[in-house]
Amino acid sequence: METEKLYYNDGKLSAFTAAVLECREAKDGWDVVLDRTAFYPEGGGQPCDRGTLERLEVLDVQEQKGCILHRLEQPLLPGTEVRGQVDVARRFDYAQQHTADHILTGVIHRRYGLDNVGFHMGKESTFIDLNGILDESALFEMERVANEAVWMDLPVEASWPDDSTLARLDYRSKKALTGPVRIVTIPGIDVCACCGIHVEHTGAVGLIKILSVTRLRGGVRVEYAAGRRAYHYLDTVQQQNRMISAVLSARPLHTAEAVRRLLEERDAARKRCVALEQKRFEVLAQQQSGQGDTLLFEEELNADGVRRLADAVKETCGGTVLVFSGAEDTGYQYALAAQEGNLRPLGKALNEALNGRGGGREDTFLQGSVRADRTQIEAFWRSCQSGSGIE
Ligand SMILES: [Zn+2]
Repeated sequence: METEKLYYNDGKLSAFTAAVLECREAKDGWDVVLDRTAFYPEGGGQPCDRGTLERLEVLDVQEQKGCILHRLEQPLLPGTEVRGQVDVARRFDYAQQHTADHILTGVIHRRYGLDNVGFHMGKESTFIDLNGILDESALFEMERVANEAVWMDLPVEASWPDDSTLARLDYRSKKALTGPVRIVTIPGIDVCACCGIHVEHTGAVGLIKILSVTRLRGGVRVEYAAGRRAYHYLDTVQQQNRMISAVLSARPLHTAEAVRRLLEERDAARKRCVALEQKRFEVLAQQQSGQGDTLLFEEELNADGVRRLADAVKETCGGTVLVFSGAEDTGYQYALAAQEGNLRPLGKALNEALNGRGGGREDTFLQGSVRADRTQIEAFWRSCQSGSGIE
């Protein structure tokens, strides 16, 4: 027997009474069938309602051939009358997201002829897949048009047209439909076959905000948030911007410009730092002139600095140079360089002795890092000098 669907007569109905017709044992609970229900079952991309039946939590709601199954942890006695309570906040949230989908897809369909071929409502945001490419500027223009439709507070009307009316009607549909078709109309914006629950007027959607646009199989996936979700999203973004604004002493609407200036200053400071480092490396290289094999420790260099210092000293020392920079607790970066010869055997011995890793494309230049302290590094160096020597 088909369940009477109270949610289609009154989308705001939250409390109702109904008779228990049947209670079936299911895999992880009980499926209760009522003579009528205000619980919307999962369908049309919209998640099901939640709430309670006689204080028992409704865990899931599914429709099977017109019969609506309410999943409960415990059974209800057939023949009894029960009170149902729908979680209205959850219902309203999903209705806002769903109506926003019709508005956004409707304006895109009318302007560009694209169809919505995939729809997924998540906990935080909703995704629609369009079967064609639209660039971001076109989509954000459609977002503006969609919001105009929200603020016009247009009615969202559901109807079940007869076959001849339906045959004359131009409406969006994801699949070929048989039997009675429910049509949801937003005048001037969208006509669509849909079984979902909507807000009564577009104004209740509040706001539609596109969050991201990604290319997907010859089309685009548009992620958006509507209503309360859009408010929470923008609230979070504003809090972030306020923090950036305070840290950079920039007006809230000029933070991007302030960040750009900051990055320019950073780049200039980096350039100056590299130039000063290079001068020091040249001085160090002169000090090591003709010293032969050389071990150097230099403070606070990054990997590139270690490389440049090794490059500079190898030109003057007349042997192999090994440069380290770092600290006991974080480990050391190293660079090993010479003007000629093959440093790979030495690099391998170094990595083995000092718990290191690294290598290089050239036989005369190797780079890496070690997990060892300075004493161990110096001991390794001495063993190389006194033992087999540096090859
Ligand atoms: Zn729909």
